[in-house]
Amino acid sequence: MAEENETDEKTASAEDPALQDDDREDETDEDIDEEDVPLSFCHACLTPFEQFYYLGEKNGFSLVSCLQCTTAVADPYPTVEFMEKYFEKFKKPSPKSEEVEKAATRHLKTIQKLQEKTKGKRFLSVGCGYGYSVIAAHSAELEAYGIDVEEKPIKLAKKNLGKEYFRRISVEDYAAGGKQADIVYIAESQIFECALDPNAFAAALKKILAPGGVIYLDILDGNHFMVPSNFIRWKDVKPPVTLHYFSRKGIKILLERHGLEVERFKFRFRTRMSFTAVHASEKTAKDKKPAKNDGKKSEKKDAAA
Ligand SMILES: [Zn+2]
Repeated sequence: MAEENETDEKTASAEDPALQDDDREDETDEDIDEEDVPLSFCHACLTPFEQFYYLGEKNGFSLVSCLQCTTAVADPYPTVEFMEKYFEKFKKPSPKSEEVEKAATRHLKTIQKLQEKTKGKRFLSVGCGYGYSVIAAHSAELEAYGIDVEEKPIKLAKKNLGKEYFRRISVEDYAAGGKQADIVYIAESQIFECALDPNAFAAALKKILAPGGVIYLDILDGNHFMVPSNFIRWKDVKPPVTLHYFSRKGIKILLERHGLEVERFKFRFRTRMSFTAVHASEKTAKDKKPAKNDGKKSEKKDAAA
């Protein structure tokens, strides 16, 4: 979990009062004016937030849940400037060596399974942090690269493996550059959960994914059965480091809107979900192939019964 921990250091000069506390989990932020950026719709299913379910307060944010798809989101929605400032001061703890090995082993197992799904060799870790997944992918003989928006992890990642394998760039900017990958990998990072524009993020993933390729996502599951009934007591609720707590329904709708189809959610005991997604057009083509038993007959039977 080394790559998703949060701040442990105080920075020298934090002008923004929201950035001055060591313990961000308990801070309140009076600087955020709710009138500034009204939260008007669910970013996952686009349902207008005329009504929503109130979950509680944390770190100066309200947490609200969409009545349609049960995705939870922080409100007020922070501005780009606020997030930039916040992450400028945000310090990730340096990884411990035993964690590095464990992380690499975990990633390698997942990556090897993904290799069974695509013949392509280009691997991109989005929100790669210290780059363990990229190191693992290299050992699996993939042409592996990593991108992240945070400076410190990327610096260390470059040291670990080599400068040429990492870039400090957003997924949206990377996608705009036109480069594609056969395996797009997001795990042990909160990059999707803190995306200010999840729709732009999903569109970028779709653009980066090469034909015949696969996306792997391991993200928080905002509707997991292990999430405490008092939502804000969930340890992963830490706005603004995490803004979105997608439900399975919500993430599925969001990705579908951008031409990506979730293949299958894997059962997890932890409050996360992991799944692969492919180009929707390819999934449809795959599903159509074994047309012998398409289930229509049994449907009719059921209807008649
Ligand atoms: Zn929704």
